[in-house]
Amino acid sequence: LGARINSALHALSKEPVIDEKAVDALLREICTALLESDVNVRLVQQLRQNVRKRINMDELSASANKRKVIQTAVFDELCTLVDPGVQPWVPRKGKQNVVMFVGLQGSGKTTSCTKLAAYYKRKGMKVGLVCADTFRAGAFDQLRQNASRAHIPYYGSYTEADPVLIAMEGVKQFKKDKFDLIIVDTSGRHKQEMELFAEMQQIAKAVRPDNTVFVMDGTIGQAADSQARAFKETVDIGSIIITKMDGHAKGGGAISAVAATGSPIIFIGTGEHMHDLDKFSARPFVSKMLGMGDISGLVETVQDLQLDKNEDMIKNLAKGVFTLKDMRDQLQSILKMGPLSKIMGMMPGMSPDMMQGFDAEEGTRRLRSYMCIFDSMTENELTSDGKLFDDENRLKRVARGSGVRPVDVQALLHQHRQFGQIVKKMGGPEGMLSKMNPAM
Ligand code: GDP
Ligand code: MG
Repeated sequence: LGARINSALHALSKEPVIDEKAVDALLREICTALLESDVNVRLVQQLRQNVRKRINMDELSASANKRKVIQTAVFDELCTLVDPGVQPWVPRKGKQNVVMFVGLQGSGKTTSCTKLAAYYKRKGMKVGLVCADTFRAGAFDQLRQNASRAHIPYYGSYTEADPVLIAMEGVKQFKKDKFDLIIVDTSGRHKQEMELFAEMQQIAKAVRPDNTVFVMDGTIGQAADSQARAFKETVDIGSIIITKMDGHAKGGGAISAVAATGSPIIFIGTGEHMHDLDKFSARPFVSKMLGMGDISGLVETVQDLQLDKNEDMIKNLAKGVFTLKDMRDQLQSILKMGPLSKIMGMMPGMSPDMMQGFDAEEGTRRLRSYMCIFDSMTENELTSDGKLFDDENRLKRVARGSGVRPVDVQALLHQHRQFGQIVKKMGGPEGMLSKMNPAM
């Protein structure tokens, strides 16, 4: 999608005269791209009209940067589509918040439940998980494993077959034990939607959730609209989590879900691991959709952690240069800063398999092992871009010196390359940082 829209905008910037015809042609092109990206037809029409209305031809012809004017209009309209303008629900301190998860089987409920629980646990809340899925074989085992890994208390049963009873009992227990946040996972049986919807309503009635989270698979394409509508009609959807946005999900489904429910997206799932949960915000999401890359999330976290005080890093980012030493220095400051779990998930180089089984301790251990590897490098190697290590002997020497396997050194080099690519894109006045927000 991004490539098409960007190329359409680019073509427009080369047009000698920008007239109505050129703008219409551009909008047509953009709408085709949005449709291909699974955005609902009605929404595309709406966007087209809105953008058309916003663009004042006189203003446009007077403007020095025509492309930017149109780009900003499209960008803003897309943001409006994924942002219903409703403040999302958040658990309140000092209250026993109950959240119920709903969504079709396979949409990612159980996974997202644990992710959300871990998220609030990191914020210092006492969180419990209730498995009210008695439909899917092994559902309780799955939740139990996820929860144990994240050290989150859970409730469920191998023998009780009534999900309503389990939900009620679990919530009661956790309330008695003064939990701040109780998350109820439900089943999502396919092809038996009538039963599912009845069950959902019964559980909702029994536990009276403060918020119901609708979980939707981000890869389902045009089906998003009808699926979201069906759920909206059955339960009172408070917020949305879109999952599987890590692969080739195009993002159009998310727009449909918001439009169909009028509810805000709170998080997006970006992988199978516990930490693959990104706080949703419209502008970075749309930037990513438009192919501008999701680096603003990283920038935000860096600011959160006050790494922005590290001026060298910013300078280097701006230059688009990234040596192994730069990577070492940054990882070192991260090691000093913590919380590791948070920053690790944001690092462009941290691929999902790197994050597999990741916990903060394990992550720290890995970073330390990276530091050992860096320590075994010569100054010459450190200030290089890493290509020197195509030489196998060199690679082996560093591995031996740091007591790791050559593949571990390769993993570090691989991450460095990924990191470097992002830095390159960000670098320079023409780089990502300036393109990140077309409205700026
Ligand atoms: P449920 O049936 O709704 O409870 O769905 P699950 O939580 O069991 O997830 C179904 C599958 O999707 C599992 O294999 C998960 O690992 C996977 N999954 C869930 N969320 C994500 C995500 O954000 N990205 C990726 N790649 N996979 C996910
Ligand atoms: Mg499940």
